[in-house]
Amino acid sequence: MQLELSEFHSFEAGGQEFLYLAPSGGIFAVDALAKKALSSVSERPQGAHELLDGLMATGATRETARETIEELVSARALKPAGGWKESVEEPPAHFPLQTLVINLTNQCNLSCQYCYEFGEDKVATPEGKPKFMDWETAKQSVDFLFGEAAGRRSAHITFFGGETLMNFPLLKQVVDYANVRGAEEKISIDYSLTTNATLLRPEIIEYLSANAIGVTVSMDGPKEMNDQLRVFANGKGSYDVIIPKVKELLAQHKTRPIAARVTLTKGVTDVVRIFRHLKEELGFHEVGFAPVTTSPNRLYAIEEKGLDDVLSQFEQLAYEYRDYALQNKLHGFSNVSDTLSELHHGVSKSHPCGAGLGLMGVGPSGDISPCHRFVDSDTHKLGHISTGVDKEKQKEFLAHGHIGAKYDCQSCWARPVCAGGCYHEAFVRYGDTGHANLHYCDWIRGWTDLCLKIYGEIATHNPGFLQNFENRKAQ
Ligand code: SF4
Ligand code: SF4
Repeated sequence: MQLELSEFHSFEAGGQEFLYLAPSGGIFAVDALAKKALSSVSERPQGAHELLDGLMATGATRETARETIEELVSARALKPAGGWKESVEEPPAHFPLQTLVINLTNQCNLSCQYCYEFGEDKVATPEGKPKFMDWETAKQSVDFLFGEAAGRRSAHITFFGGETLMNFPLLKQVVDYANVRGAEEKISIDYSLTTNATLLRPEIIEYLSANAIGVTVSMDGPKEMNDQLRVFANGKGSYDVIIPKVKELLAQHKTRPIAARVTLTKGVTDVVRIFRHLKEELGFHEVGFAPVTTSPNRLYAIEEKGLDDVLSQFEQLAYEYRDYALQNKLHGFSNVSDTLSELHHGVSKSHPCGAGLGLMGVGPSGDISPCHRFVDSDTHKLGHISTGVDKEKQKEFLAHGHIGAKYDCQSCWARPVCAGGCYHEAFVRYGDTGHANLHYCDWIRGWTDLCLKIYGEIATHNPGFLQNFENRKAQ
C-alpha cells in the first residue's frame, strides 16, 4: 500500500505535539516515532514496507514501527495514495427531533437596533400573522414535538420571542401540557428560555426555579455598554430596569445554572470587561459572546480590526479557562466550553448546526422553520404544525447546507467543527443559507486553533477535567 499524508492541522500544547485530523475531527497525540513517519512520508509518498524499514533503521523495533504505522493509518493521518472517500457524519434518513424552539410571541418591549428579528437585516415576514401564539397552536406544537421525537428518551423545549415573557401565561400552559404528554410518552422534557429580563417578577422567578427551567439572559454588559443598543422604544437604556431583576433571578433561581448571552457590536467589544461584570460582579454561571449577525455596512457591524481585538480578548479568557481547568474549577466562558465539547466528542459535522434536523422553530402562526432565527419567514418555512414538516423542503434545505456542497470548505482543516457556519448569518451576508461564511474563516481557524491548544494542555495535564464534557453529552 502506497501511503501519503492526509489532511491535518498540527499544533503543540503542554509540551506535546498533536494532529487535528480534518477528515475525521479526531485529535491524535504524536510521539517521536510517529513524527518520524509523518516527516518521511511528507518528503515522499512511499509504500508501507518501505516506511516500516525506514522506521526500523532509526532504531525502532518491527513491532513498534508496525503499530505506529497502523495507528497513523487508522487515525487517517496517513492515507492510501489516491485516498479514500471521506465520510462526514451523515444524518440518518429519519432524524428524531430533539429541540423545538417555540416563539411564544414576535413582539418585544425593547427596540434593540441590532435585533435580527425585526432589524434592518430581518428575514421574518410577519405581516398578516398573529403577534402572539395562541393555546391551540402551542398545544399542536407540543404534539408535533412528541410525534417527531419518537424514539428519544428526552427532548427539549426552548421558549423564545420577541420577548418570551410577554406571553408567560402560555409558557405555563405549555409546561403543564408537555409534562403530561411526556409522562404518557415516556420522554422526559427539559425546558429553557431566553429573556431580556425586563419582565421578570418574583412569582415568575419562583415558577422558573420550581420547574427547573433554564434561563439565558440577553444583556450586553455594564450599563455604558448594555445601553448603547439595548434600549426601549423611547431610546432609554434597559440596564437600570433589568439589574435588580437579574440580581433577584440569580439569587432565587437555584435549580439551573443561569447564563448570559452577549451580542458584540461596534463599540461593545470590551469582552474582558463585560465578562468580569456578568460573571464576577453579577454572578452568572456562564457567559457566551457572539458578534452581531449583520450586513457589514450596518453602523453597529464590527469591522475587521474590532474582530481581531475580540479574538485577542477571547484568547485571554480562554487561557484563564485553561488555568481554571487545570485546578478542576469551572471558569464560565461558554464559548470555550462549547468548542472543547465538540473537539472532545470528535465531531465531524455534515451540517453547521442542528437547524432543520434535530432542532426546529415554530412561530406564533404555527409555521415551522429551521431555527428560531428563521421563524415567521415565508422564504424559509419548512412546514406547518397542522400538516407537519414538508419533507421535500427539509431535504432540499439540508442538501444545500451540507458541507459537501460548500466548495470553499473542502480544503479547510477547520471544517469538522465549522461546516461553513450559521445558515442565518450566511443568508444575511450572502442571501443564501448554503453559502460558506467566508468572511470569518480566519476568525474560525484562529479560534479553533486556540481551543485545540487549550484542549491539548488540559488533556496532557489534567485529563480528568475532560469528564465534564462526557457529562455534558449525557445531559
Ligand atoms: S466557512 Fe471558512 S472556516 Fe468554516 S469550514 Fe468553510 S472555509 Fe473553513
Ligand atoms: S442557523 Fe445559526 S442561529 Fe440557527 S441554530 Fe444554526 S447556528 Fe444557530
